[in-house]
Amino acid sequence: NAYVPAGDRYDSMQYNRCGKSGIRLPAVSLGLWHNFGSIDTFENGRKIVRRAFDKGITHFDLANNYGPVPGSAEENFGNILKKDFTGNLRDELIISTKAGYHMWPGPYGEWGSRKNLLSSLDQSLKRMQLDYVDIFYSHRPDPETPIEETMGALDTAVRQGKALYVGLSNYTAEQTTAALAVLKSLGTPCLIHQPKYSMFERWVENGLLDVLENNGVGCIPFSPLAQGLLTDRYLGGIPEGSRASKPSGFLKAEQITQEKLDKINQLNAIAQRRGQSLAQMALSWLLKDRRITTVLIGASSVEQLDNNLGALANLRYTVEELEEIEAILK
Ligand code: NDP
Repeated sequence: NAYVPAGDRYDSMQYNRCGKSGIRLPAVSLGLWHNFGSIDTFENGRKIVRRAFDKGITHFDLANNYGPVPGSAEENFGNILKKDFTGNLRDELIISTKAGYHMWPGPYGEWGSRKNLLSSLDQSLKRMQLDYVDIFYSHRPDPETPIEETMGALDTAVRQGKALYVGLSNYTAEQTTAALAVLKSLGTPCLIHQPKYSMFERWVENGLLDVLENNGVGCIPFSPLAQGLLTDRYLGGIPEGSRASKPSGFLKAEQITQEKLDKINQLNAIAQRRGQSLAQMALSWLLKDRRITTVLIGASSVEQLDNNLGALANLRYTVEELEEIEAILK
């Protein structure tokens, strides 16, 4: 079953400029944290990636540790690329990876040392069978390593030709300000910041988004659906096969409290009124802010992916709708 990408793949997607860079990213990007590991069905993941590209999703987000087992999402993605994205299709893709969380034993297998970042990137490139990634991230700030060292490692990755751009993830507004200054001084400006941001997780509104805007850095919120909470997935309990039902899933059943469910139900009612699924509303609610370059979703099926892409059909909110949503989230 040879893959021929859809000829109309660039017709319906919206592409937003990433900060003040030369890169535009699709309004929806696909992350491979869950559903693409060695415990998952390879052909399902392959179908999702193909469908994503057919719909104009050019950006795929990975990290060294995605799986499980750690590393297997990169391996699987590498195999998908090898099988399906032949010829010059690599040039139509923005592929990211990260280093910083625990990956191998000993003192160099995590955090923000130059040793960790550059070794990890080499491992990621091998697993994905790539010469370079488009974006290499420091996955988390390291309180014990000088910011100059961590940013210096990102800069080196670019100078070695192993990454085209660099990014930060999970850095606070203050840590971001410091990191951006170092990167700028090195001549490798930060392309993008990847924070957790959704209707249920709003810390970025207290400073980080301003820092990014003022410095011309893009923003790619991860877990924009709060790992599936901001969808209809859990409205009738915890279904079999859902993230919260799996031992390997990062969403735990305990996190699905009655208080959360009440909010989800109320939000769902507003979504229905808007003619959207709750997932679509959760995504369009983020994308209405022009500082948000793209939302980084996960999906366990092609149907979910398609549903999420429907968010782009309605990105407008009335003041009343926004107030109503705030009252529920409060
Ligand atoms: P989401 O909040 O988008 O959650 C995705 C999950 O929600 C899916 O796996 C699926 O769960 C469910 N879902 C998605 N769409 C629908 C739908 N339309 N209807 C019903 N259920 C739906 O994002 P993730 O938490 O998966 O994170 C996205 C990406 O962000 C990751 O893949 C990764 O690339 C990145 N990330 C980065 C982190 C960092 O530290 N930088 C940390 C975490 C993630 P189910 O399996 O139950 O079907």
